Amino acid sequence: MPLKEYDKKRNFKVTPEPSGKSAAKPKQGPLLYVIQKHRATALHYDFRIEWNGVLLSWAVPKGPSPDPSIKRLAMQVEDHPIDYAAFEGVIPEGEYGGGTVMIWDQGTWTPEQEDVDAALAKGDLKMHIHGKKLKGSWVLVRTHGYGRSDGKSWLLIKHRDEYASTDDLTVLKPKSVVSNRLLAGIAKEAGGDVAKAATGDPAPPKPAAAKRAKVATPARAGKKKAS
Ligand code: MN
Repeated sequence: MPLKEYDKKRNFKVTPEPSGKSAAKPKQGPLLYVIQKHRATALHYDFRIEWNGVLLSWAVPKGPSPDPSIKRLAMQVEDHPIDYAAFEGVIPEGEYGGGTVMIWDQGTWTPEQEDVDAALAKGDLKMHIHGKKLKGSWVLVRTHGYGRSDGKSWLLIKHRDEYASTDDLTVLKPKSVVSNRLLAGIAKEAGGDVAKAATGDPAPPKPAAAKRAKVATPARAGKKKAS
């Protein structure tokens, strides 16, 4: 069972996440790609690509960067079931990965090598990503740095193409691609920890700005002439 580790870490009587049992069904069509923004113990972005009936998964603490000069650490984690790509909601506190999950980007991917298994074994996987936020050519490269030598440490890097840019997508595009919600909105609707989720969202407008806006509104109807 490729999802043994996934199932072992979770109690499906408590968490709304899909169980690994759903993995066995064969799937047709293009290979799925998804990034889930996850406000767990620490905020991170879970980068997942479908391969061999599961979602290969990497946790990217800082999220992807479309700037080819920026390499983002990506820690490989346990394979996830295909159905996980549709999961957006709240994992109860105290459970594995407890916190709020957002579908931050989704789409499909195309391998840029003929032999994906060989590329994964070698630790150099070139991918063409067809997402709503991420597009074009990217690579995952296994690294032996960062004090780890268990083969789980990779770097996610954008290749130079027409989709390369210096935009910080994590700041410019903070919302869910399926529900247009921020983390706090997802947490609120699913009965999660809204304050904790909100720490993963962009900072709200400064109180000073809100005050100015209030002052600018006419105090009482009729007392002030519109000009
Ligand atoms: Mn995660």
